[in-house]
Parts: sequence; structure tokens; C-alpha cells
Amino acid sequence: MKETLRKGWCPGALRPMMARDGLLVRLRISGGRLGADKARALAALAEFYGNGLFDLSARANLQMRGIGESNLAPLLDALADLDLLDDDPAGEAVRNVIASPLAGLGGGLDIGPLVAALEARLTRDPALHALPGKFGFLIDDGSDPSLAGVPADVRFDAVREDTSWRFWIGLGGTRDHAEPLGFCAPGEIVEAANWIGRTFLTLAEKTHPRVRRMEGLIERLGRYQTARAFGGDGGAPRLPYSGAILNPPPVGLTGADGYPALGIAAPFGRFDHHMLRVAANIADESGNGELRLTPWRCLLLPDVRVIPPDHGLGAVGFILDPSDARLRIAACVGQAGCEHASTPTHADAEALWGVVSHFEGAAIAIHVSGCQKGCAKASRTPITLVGRDGLYDLVENGRASDIPVKRDLDLDSAHAAIVALRRRV
Ligand code: SF4
Repeated sequence: MKETLRKGWCPGALRPMMARDGLLVRLRISGGRLGADKARALAALAEFYGNGLFDLSARANLQMRGIGESNLAPLLDALADLDLLDDDPAGEAVRNVIASPLAGLGGGLDIGPLVAALEARLTRDPALHALPGKFGFLIDDGSDPSLAGVPADVRFDAVREDTSWRFWIGLGGTRDHAEPLGFCAPGEIVEAANWIGRTFLTLAEKTHPRVRRMEGLIERLGRYQTARAFGGDGGAPRLPYSGAILNPPPVGLTGADGYPALGIAAPFGRFDHHMLRVAANIADESGNGELRLTPWRCLLLPDVRVIPPDHGLGAVGFILDPSDARLRIAACVGQAGCEHASTPTHADAEALWGVVSHFEGAAIAIHVSGCQKGCAKASRTPITLVGRDGLYDLVENGRASDIPVKRDLDLDSAHAAIVALRRRV
């Protein structure tokens, strides 16, 4: 058992991580597709074996929190019965594939079989098990809501050409910032991913210190050399600018690509077993019986065309208003659940909602991070508050690990500093 209780690990279910509030069990739900029955079963397991809380991560993974050590074995048995457990920890750790949340519902190319094939290759090929735990792939089906603004180490973005589809391959970042490598046919995705993964491992091995992410490799090699190293010529075309980084999350009733869905957001990605049951019941009663997990800290309930009366979603804590200021703030679990944090990040993020109105042109305006690791948001944000010794350092237009422009701010000082910085702009 002790081998599984790793601190600082990029956790899974078979290798959970000990956090301040107990074991954290991360479920990589294939394709982000969760049936309502399974969601209710997970709610019951979270209540029985854990503290009843879930976090939806920036990679659309579902994290069960507060699992007691003696509860881990029966929980894993129950997850296996639900077909939510991988065969082994090494394969689970690298099965990092983000898929379009409404895939397979008619809006774009049906990428379900491609996602399954890529996941199977990652889990069954021991050579790929050497990929770093945070190294991730993304497959966008070409429909809305688009994953263009979601970063990935290796991305495949579907592009329709007359009656056929092909995939644009990008390395390291969002669609607008990734290094283009060219195009491949849908049937070539798995081999392309395999080639890129193996090449990354070879190149990473040669760097000192060994890089863990594609963006780090690009920073070291340069864009042109990176493209060349991966078989490109440095001249592959970019896709037209999407501006997706500016898009708000799909919350409320959406009719993207003519396919209706209801987006319900959990404040900072946190919800409890009761909320999950309510969402599952709405999915059954008014939708297609599925919940789709998204990387935007919200769930999509496909086929819900009208918000049912007495739905109870707002009453239990879900956000249904796309203009809710909390949607524009990212925050990690903070002091309540992580030993690296010294600040109550969720409460502090709630208190900052008023300053969000000072920002225009960014879906996420503020990132409140418990430490420099920046788990809640890996990409740049206009303002990042980084907790340290009970206070915050402030990074402008950067990541949690970047050099701050102000240090040692309490919440009131941080609030005032953000307002002053925005006035200056
Ligand atoms: S960013 Fe937050 S959740 Fe991640 S290690 Fe730091 S304090 Fe913990």
C-alpha cells in the first residue's frame, strides 16, 4: 500500500496522492463521458469512502478527495466494478487524452474510436510509459465548444475539407500558440502520437535537466529546431487565429453546432456528492443520460433543451449564469486540501469577484494559486496570485512560477494592487 501513497505525484486511482484532506484519487474518465448511473455510483462512493468532495481538473479529470487509507482497497474494487480502473498504474499515468466534450453527438467528426485507440496505445506500449505524468494529448473534433484554447503537449485539431476531415498537428500549447507540424489523416493519429511521444522522450533525455513538457522542449530547442526534430520542415501552416483563449466557458443553455446541451459550472471546479446526484438526475430526466466532463470546470448535460423547473442546480451550488464572475477566476484547492498551500485560495478567490470587472478580453482574468506549482492553470493569466507563507506574490501576465512584480500582499493589498495595475493599463 505504501508504494501507492506518493507525495507530489501526478496522481491516478492506482497511484493516489496523499493530500492534506486524505488520499486524492484521480479518475481519467475516457473521453470525459460519464453515464448518469455511474455518476450516482461515484457520488455514493465519495460519500462513503471519502469526504464527499470532487474536483474537476483543468484536464477534465474527476478527483475524489479525502479518501481514508483503509478505504482505498474497497474503493478501487468498486471503481473496477464500474469499469473505471486501468489495468496497471504505469498505463494509467500516461493515459492523458482530452477530447471534445460533445464528441460523437453530431457536431463534428466522431472521434470516439480515435480517442479509444490512442488511449489503448498509450496504456499498452511500455515504451510510452516513460512519458512524464503531466504530458498530455488532445483531440478536437472540429465542433463547438472548441478545445482551441485548451493547451496540450500534442494536439490534433480536426479540420473539415469539403466532405472529408484531416487533423492539424500542433506541439505544445493552445491551437493559436502551438508549433505546427502539418496534417494527418484520422487513421494516422495513433501512429503520429506514438512517433511524437517517442521522439519527445529521446530529445528530453538529451537535455539537462531533462524537460517534462513540450513547451519546455520548444523553449530549449527553439521553434524551428523543434519542428525539424519532429520531422517537420518548420514551414507548416498555422490554423486561422481562433481567439479561443477569450471564450467564456459554455455555461447555461448552449446550442453549439445545433446540438443542445446545458452547461453547469462548479465554482473553481469543486462540487460535492449531492451536487453530482442532482446533475445526474437532470441528465436522466431532461437529457440523454450522460454527463460530459470539460476542461473548463463545468459539466455539460447533452440534449437538455430547457432548464427544467425546480431543477435544484443553483440551489445546490452550480453556476448557470455565464456572466458569473467566479467563472473568470481559477483557483486550486489551497490550504484546505494541499499541504503546499498556506492560503485559503477558494475563499480568497470568492472575495476577488469584484475586481474581475476591471478585465476585458480574457476568459480567465485571475488565477489564485496556493503555490508556484500553479495546478489550477498552467498557462499565462493577466493576474496570478501565488500563495507563500500566508501571503500572496503577484505575477502579471504570466504563470504561477514566473517572477512576481509585487510580493507579500495580504488579500486587501492584493485587491488594491490589482485595481491599481488595471488602472495603469
Ligand atoms: S498549486 Fe495549489 S494544489 Fe497545486 S501544489 Fe500548489 S497549493 Fe497544492
